[in-house]
Amino acid sequence: MEFTKPLLSFNNAKTIKGEKLGYKTYILYMSPFTANSKGINVCSHASKGCADSCLVGSGFGGMYTNVMQGRVNKTEFFLRDRIAFLNKLKGEVERAIRLNEGKAIVTFRLNGTSDLPYEKYKVFDNNTKNIFEMFPDVQFYDYTKNWKRFEKELPANYHLTFSRSETNHDKAMEILSKGYNVAIVFDKLPETYAGYEVINGDENDLRFKDKKGVVVGLKYKKITGTGGAEKNKLAFESGFVLRVNELQDRIMAKVAMDI
Ligand code: SF4
Repeated sequence: MEFTKPLLSFNNAKTIKGEKLGYKTYILYMSPFTANSKGINVCSHASKGCADSCLVGSGFGGMYTNVMQGRVNKTEFFLRDRIAFLNKLKGEVERAIRLNEGKAIVTFRLNGTSDLPYEKYKVFDNNTKNIFEMFPDVQFYDYTKNWKRFEKELPANYHLTFSRSETNHDKAMEILSKGYNVAIVFDKLPETYAGYEVINGDENDLRFKDKKGVVVGLKYKKITGTGGAEKNKLAFESGFVLRVNELQDRIMAKVAMDI
């Protein structure tokens, strides 16, 4: 069965902020976690907290829409025929570059709502190159919760920001100490966290432009609609969202003990 719909899209609030800076970001949105007919997890290191908020936040916990069906269809296509999927993706990247020539710098985020190791899929040029290596002059970027992806050298044009959750906090700190960036969700942004500068990750989504060795602070966006209130409560209670006031209280308590 041929898949004719586009894999990449660019019309959303995140990419529009980047457009003001001359960048056009194309994002590939799949159905996250195990939301596919085979129940295969496309987010190998997802925590319960992130999967819950991600699924509900993208509508999978509530009303089923065309957008969601489209994301499921892309995931099914990937799971059914990875080579055809990657070849279609390559064609769309080429087209996006062509369409934006002289107008905007194109960037690509392939894991909009998934966490797949695209660097491993060497299906091009007789199985010697991955999608990043096919376009060495183009910037790709992603967020990931898979710390193993930092263990091997990534293609120079692929930037990864590690995403902290309630279950990988120690790994996040380790990755920060190695000079990579870590995205952390807060209730409100502090200036520093654990001695690292916190930059505002909501200003735009162009993570490859961030300085190195910083915390990319993201403000928790409350989920609305069916089940939203319960999920918001869980996001805080699970420790997925860090509360700045509590952090400050803990620091003050430690200072008081040290005096
Ligand atoms: S790993 Fe990312 S994309 Fe996957 S469920 Fe968690 S937040 Fe969503």
